[in-house]
Amino acid sequence: MKRVAYFGGTFDPVHCGHIAVAKALVPAFELDRLYFLPAFHAPHKPDRRPTSGYHRYAMLSIATANEPMLMVSTLELDKRERRYTIDTLAELKALHADSELFFVMGADSWMDIRTWKDWESVLLAVNHIVVSRPGFELSSDHVTPKVQSRIVDFRTSGNRLPADFATDEPQIFITDAVNQDISATELREDLSDGEFDRQDEIPAEVAKYIEKYELYR
Ligand code: ATP
Repeated sequence: MKRVAYFGGTFDPVHCGHIAVAKALVPAFELDRLYFLPAFHAPHKPDRRPTSGYHRYAMLSIATANEPMLMVSTLELDKRERRYTIDTLAELKALHADSELFFVMGADSWMDIRTWKDWESVLLAVNHIVVSRPGFELSSDHVTPKVQSRIVDFRTSGNRLPADFATDEPQIFITDAVNQDISATELREDLSDGEFDRQDEIPAEVAKYIEKYELYR
């Protein structure tokens, strides 16, 4: 059975932390494909308005151009409205009925998961991969015993999922295979201050794109 992962987020902009996570997970979980899944944000929503989905998509495409296993999905952008993950997962399950599906999130999203719509169903619906992130705790006291029973902590056992690993129920895999202290919010702040000296935190071709289109000024 093929293994397909989706890595959801705003990716405003995609940075080397996101790419490092994706590149580490492909071999560690023997994934056939990992799709970045940029979210659409409705313009009328009160929180910060993200950069246009076209630009975020373009930056992800540039960042993954030379990585055969890394793809970009337009599933959420195409909807033109903000989607709840629970609805996206139902679609993804239908789309990949013949594959093993994994949803990827960082430690900050995991610790915030109770703010997501139908969060327990989200966590039980498919396999998840929770990736550590510097500065964020990664515990499991905030989730229900049922969710806790699905957790497989790879942090002390080599961070690898063997190809023949099989269970009847989806699992939640915790890994600390990557530890890059990079944040899109901090990158945007530096770019808008005109004090950008974090060249090693954004893929070089993406940095050129940001400059060319004068994003985050
Ligand atoms: P912000 O700094 O604004 O929170 P971000 O850098 O977290 O942005 P997002 O697009 O919100 O970028 O992140 C998408 C997903 O990637 C989230 O699940 C997040 O937890 C994860 N992620 C982002 N940066 C890292 C990192 N350095 N290490 C591990 N996971 C990360």
